[in-house]
Amino acid sequence: MSDSETNWTIVGQGLAGTCLAWALWERGEDFLLMDRGAGGSSRVAAGMVNPITGKNFEPSWRIAEFLPEALAFYQAVERRIERQLWHPFPVLRLAGSDKEWRKIVAKLDAPEVAPWVVGEVEPPAGWVGAVELRGGGRLDTRAFMEGSREFFEGLGRFRQGDVPAGEGGPHEIRCEGAAGLMAGRYGPHRCAKGEILTVRAAGWDEGHIRIGAGGWLVPQGGGVFKVGSTYEWNELDELPTAKGRLRVEEIAGRLGGEAFEVIGHKAGVRPILRRSQPLIGPMEGGGWMINALGSKGSLYAPGMAARLASWLVEGREPEPEVDFRVFLEQSRGDESQ
Ligand SMILES: Cc1cc2nc3c(=O)[nH]c(=O)nc-3n(C[C@H](O)[C@H](O)[C@H](O)COP(=O)(O)OP(=O)(O)OC[C@H]3O[C@@H](n4cnc5c(N)ncnc54)[C@H](O)[C@@H]3O)c2cc1C
Repeated sequence: MSDSETNWTIVGQGLAGTCLAWALWERGEDFLLMDRGAGGSSRVAAGMVNPITGKNFEPSWRIAEFLPEALAFYQAVERRIERQLWHPFPVLRLAGSDKEWRKIVAKLDAPEVAPWVVGEVEPPAGWVGAVELRGGGRLDTRAFMEGSREFFEGLGRFRQGDVPAGEGGPHEIRCEGAAGLMAGRYGPHRCAKGEILTVRAAGWDEGHIRIGAGGWLVPQGGGVFKVGSTYEWNELDELPTAKGRLRVEEIAGRLGGEAFEVIGHKAGVRPILRRSQPLIGPMEGGGWMINALGSKGSLYAPGMAARLASWLVEGREPEPEVDFRVFLEQSRGDESQ
């Protein structure tokens, strides 16, 4: 599988593998990027970045460091492959009940939240409150992965194929997403399936990412939107379901409006080991990994790839928080208690 002259074999060309290829390329390293050519959650993701997330209206983990790093990285790749990848959007966070709105308002001045807040705005009909946030946007994941693959293919550094564990040679770096977690190579996981619709609608707000009703709506341009998403922990396959479609249609109806046409429906599995915190490091059976990007691969993949490349090439170890060895020790300690 690995070329004898190639130093590193990157297994998997999702967001993690693509970012790592760029990070090794920048450092002048010799590598082969391989992907089986189907499946994986990066092929499904909406690429959205939303700085303040969830029911509790909390900043994404270390976003103040990872967002500027990610944006600088995407801009550099944009220049290299001559395609627009990052589309900035203000985020409109909507509250559907007084309770939810009170919770949001109580946090607007918190030091970790305030820098992302533009201000309260008049809520659209049917909503109790709305706040506009800065720092959001969407990565065109398809353009990023296709453009990067073409670039590396042109240099003879990409090949399509399945690489069974351990067959990538001593310098194998597994960037295999949920497929690897579900094969049990990283211990117990918390992967979650998600379904997403692409819809066409006339007259919807194309100037904001909208968050509310337990979901999100991301404009794609030309009256097309991506809307999601479901969370399912038991049936971890990549098959769209009627139930998932119904749930996402409900979200679309709340966030956009009742009139829309579904033009796409996909499902994927989010790679999760510990919340949405990614991990990098050596694997016990040999080789290296980046995984567990959770539901925030667009935000964390560039920073994680840079840390791993710097570990591999310059020997600089990352902070223990993202070190897979530390995670394994901690989870074994938890199990034995
Ligand atoms: C419905 C849904 C919506 C999402 N929306 C967003 C969003 O808006 N914003 C965001 O940031 N994140 C989002 N995510 C999360 C995002 O998809 C992940 O964080 C990210 O894509 C994970 O990237 P990865 O490279 O680790 O894994 P993957 O994308 O799964 O990539 C792994 C790649 O490795 C390949 N592979 C695996 N095993 C092998 C092997 N043995 N040999 C060769 N190739 C192999 C796979 O085919 C795949 O191409 C969403 C996820 C889902 C499911």
